[in-house]
Amino acid sequence: MEKKNLDWENMGFSYMQTDKRYVANYKDGKWDDGALIDDPNIVMNECAGVLQYSQSVFEGLKAYTTEDGHIVTFRPDLNASRMVDSAKRLEMPPFPEERFVDAVEQVVKANAAYVPPYGSGATLYIRPYMFGINPVIGVKPADEYQFRIFTTPVGPYFKGGAKPITICVSDFDRAAPHGTGHIKAGLNYAMSLHAIVTAHANGFDENMYLDSATRTKVEETGGANFIFVTKDNKVVTPHSDTILPSITRRSIMYVAEHYLGLEVEERDVYFDEVKDFAECGLCGTAAVISPVGKIVNHGEEICLPSGMEKMGPVTQKLYDTLTGIQMGHIEAPEGWIKVIE
Ligand SMILES: *Cc1c(COP(=O)(O)O)cnc(C)c1O
Repeated sequence: MEKKNLDWENMGFSYMQTDKRYVANYKDGKWDDGALIDDPNIVMNECAGVLQYSQSVFEGLKAYTTEDGHIVTFRPDLNASRMVDSAKRLEMPPFPEERFVDAVEQVVKANAAYVPPYGSGATLYIRPYMFGINPVIGVKPADEYQFRIFTTPVGPYFKGGAKPITICVSDFDRAAPHGTGHIKAGLNYAMSLHAIVTAHANGFDENMYLDSATRTKVEETGGANFIFVTKDNKVVTPHSDTILPSITRRSIMYVAEHYLGLEVEERDVYFDEVKDFAECGLCGTAAVISPVGKIVNHGEEICLPSGMEKMGPVTQKLYDTLTGIQMGHIEAPEGWIKVIE
């Protein structure tokens, strides 16, 4: 497979059209066979359910080249099952998990020329999503749905190393108790846009959302889960029914315990104890871990002891171990790496 002649090292995180996308349609109570197609545009009725009442869910994962030249993805079965959970919560018909993984494989193979080479730091971002497509005007679930997957090559998340970021405690809430915070739905992002634009305007990189009910506990940011490291090297992550179960965060907690022999805790994390942690990081597919150097709560600054220059030592070890597993330098737990070709 001849690679496209792209400037892999200098790409940003933006959409670039690739050759093929996967499409399946749900109609009359069942999914059709699905196929790879060429057309990147979608034609739908002006009254489509997704346009009126935002009935849509999505996933995000990446394909990349390992040192020995294989194209692989990381734990796509977890994206498949999470999308089933998301769909059910929005009264959408789940796309079968085995078919999801198979469709990811098909669309990556069809766009193999866009999978960045090993060592470039770039990856092929994979975006599965699903939405109500038939006309819906009275408020109810759509009857017809489309499931799609497109891919787009994206650059290294951190150009020139991961610098710690500064975040602020948001005055806005992300997720209501018993709401939709635990599913990956576009609606959670639509309502976070004002909060992130406000944070950026005030000079911060990200928002820390607290629990909406009491505003005393740490939840997550708009698109990444938190991990904290205590001064005695325990890895702590907030437990909450209103955070999105990040696959990266779950993998990091496993690596902390089973590869690095660290104590791990998933529990309530009160904002009041954040000042006592040694390190803080944000976990998500895009960056794996972004180190946090400073947390600002209405002018009051918490400066993590790990500082503003580099990742803390435990965060760095977690990052190196997980990315080592992903790239094939370190043996992966059974089933984590799906070889595509
Ligand atoms: C996607 C997402 C994450 C990160 O999840 P990964 O599976 O690690 O990519 C975290 N928080 C929110 C709100 C998300 O939508």
